[in-house]
Amino acid sequence: MSVSGLPPYDPGNIFARILRGEIPCKKVLESEHALAFHDINPLSPTHILVIPKGEWVSAADFHAGASAEAIAGFWRAVGEVGRPLEGSGYRILSNMGVDAGQEVPHFHVHLFGGRPLGVMLKRG
Ligand code: 5GP
Repeated sequence: MSVSGLPPYDPGNIFARILRGEIPCKKVLESEHALAFHDINPLSPTHILVIPKGEWVSAADFHAGASAEAIAGFWRAVGEVGRPLEGSGYRILSNMGVDAGQEVPHFHVHLFGGRPLGVMLKRG
């Protein structure tokens, strides 16, 4: 179990394979601690994924286990990726576990922009 109660990290997940260079991606930014790339199935004109380079399933795992430098480096990368959209606005979102529909079990943040994004979540 990860600290969050999710299954343990699977090194065969698709983002781990992207980090190892086994699968290509459309890279937006790479730093010591993070990789940002375009989502393969974009839900908005800009849809970028930002992932830490360490093996973390969830936000709980990442923030409990990663070094302060890795955490700061990750969020700095999120900020850099969002910077060009600050004029029009954008949204960051992260899915954790089943209820959130997390498909890829490597902690990541989605960054959406390029159009009005509507309400944050449907009621109900
Ligand atoms: P989740 O549902 O886990 O929050 O989001 C996973 C995201 O990863 C989805 O938006 C999906 O389109 C994206 N994705 C899945 N496989 C690949 C891939 O091979 N390459 C890229 N660039 N994105 C992927």
